[in-house]
Amino acid sequence: SATGYDAPSPRHTQDRRVDQTPPFDAALGLPAFANEPDTNAALPANQEWARDAIAVATPAWLAAQPVPARVTADEVDAVVSRARTAAAQWATRPAAQRAAILYRAADILGRRRGHLVSLAAAEAGKAVAQTDPEISEAIDFARYYAHRALELDDLPAAFSPDRVIVVTPPWNFPIAIPAGGTFAALAAGAAVIHKPSKPTPHCSMAILEALWDAGVPRDACQGVFPDEGPAGRALISHPDVDRVILTGASETASLFASWRADLRINAETSGKNSLIVTPSADRDLAVSDLVHSAFGHAGQKCSAASLGILVGSTYRSERFRRQLVDAATSAVVDWPRNLAATIGPLTEEPRDKLLRALTTLEPGESWLLRPRRLDESGRLWSPGIKNGVAPGSFFHLTECFGPVLGLMRAESLDEAIALQNATDFGLTAGLHSREPRDVRTWLERVEAGNLYVNRGITGAIVRRQPFGGWKRSSVGLGSKAGGPNYLMLFGSWADREAEI
Ligand code: GLU
Repeated sequence: SATGYDAPSPRHTQDRRVDQTPPFDAALGLPAFANEPDTNAALPANQEWARDAIAVATPAWLAAQPVPARVTADEVDAVVSRARTAAAQWATRPAAQRAAILYRAADILGRRRGHLVSLAAAEAGKAVAQTDPEISEAIDFARYYAHRALELDDLPAAFSPDRVIVVTPPWNFPIAIPAGGTFAALAAGAAVIHKPSKPTPHCSMAILEALWDAGVPRDACQGVFPDEGPAGRALISHPDVDRVILTGASETASLFASWRADLRINAETSGKNSLIVTPSADRDLAVSDLVHSAFGHAGQKCSAASLGILVGSTYRSERFRRQLVDAATSAVVDWPRNLAATIGPLTEEPRDKLLRALTTLEPGESWLLRPRRLDESGRLWSPGIKNGVAPGSFFHLTECFGPVLGLMRAESLDEAIALQNATDFGLTAGLHSREPRDVRTWLERVEAGNLYVNRGITGAIVRRQPFGGWKRSSVGLGSKAGGPNYLMLFGSWADREAEI
């Protein structure tokens, strides 16, 4: 092939200890986009790789890693003005040059996979098996948006990128989401001010370092950590900030909007997601998908399955309940140093809604599996499953963001869809059914951004499953992250009528 990238290479079997990524050669143009494979944990060499990587992730090691600079409210103005100056230069670079830099950043992230895994473990308690696909996703975002930048440049209508975009990622995907927003804004031609989530500044810093090392000027992509108090507000409400890309709670989006009426914001916010299991479903598959979607990263995903809505005989099936409990009980709950752990600690000790969900029952509910606090830290919890969640109850309608799955009963698919749509949110939704008519009915009526049939409801893959929500799960999104039109959000379009 022209580039050396197109050849089918069994990279999923690669030994992670040896870098097999061919260096990116900008002169040859971009290779065709292909999703980056995850590490094959079945290979002994890769187990060794993961063990070595994670061994360094001690608190002392973490404290020695760099973080973005702290800024006070008074310093915000200088940060924004540096970004604005850098933006003028960055936007005039040919799209091909920005794309080549993003490709280089992807290669760098690939080479630093072990470092990134360690940072996410040390900072967020994230298990290796959960961080590894995130790194692949970050690499995918870089390459995918590089291609979209070239396309955007080729469109006949003139696109002017925003100048300064603030990116505020969450802590639950401390690699992929900080990377995704930052790469998209840079690909579109904007300068970025990246504000890490409080628990995961080191992960954010590692993304920024990859970009700087790939050739993004420092002022075009600054990392800042606003001091407590007025600094965050000063940044969001700064008149020269054109836009904010937020992934976080809907309350944060409302807070930002309350600070600034004319704020342009593209936000992916909370979810309260469910998976319907009908009587025709492959129950073994449904059990496995429910458990993975509910308890992966201890349920700390906007996309997580918080409810299983079981239709008719599925709800009444003693065997199905036993299988679910067995599957959840067999998960290894531990800190990331135990590579067999499938459920890690919570990033923060549970409070408020999550604590309520973990420790109390509402009328009609009973524990099929009672969650237990497993250690002194207060962060390690075994998974919980509650039966009999009532329509309209707290657990039916509230995002709790942790390792609790609630089961609801529906007599028909219609009733199940009504329960699924009853929440204010609409991020992910799933259906397990082998009846094509059910699938058609469901696809027509379900109100959520990402719909999955006979599959778990987490782990959207760049380009294949662009990610974004409906209803209160999104603000100003329109185009989904990891999808073909996402970059088009980050600028303005010349009025073609006026040009003619
Ligand atoms: N994109 C992630 C997924 O599909 C979820 C992102 C989030 O939790 O915000 O699982």
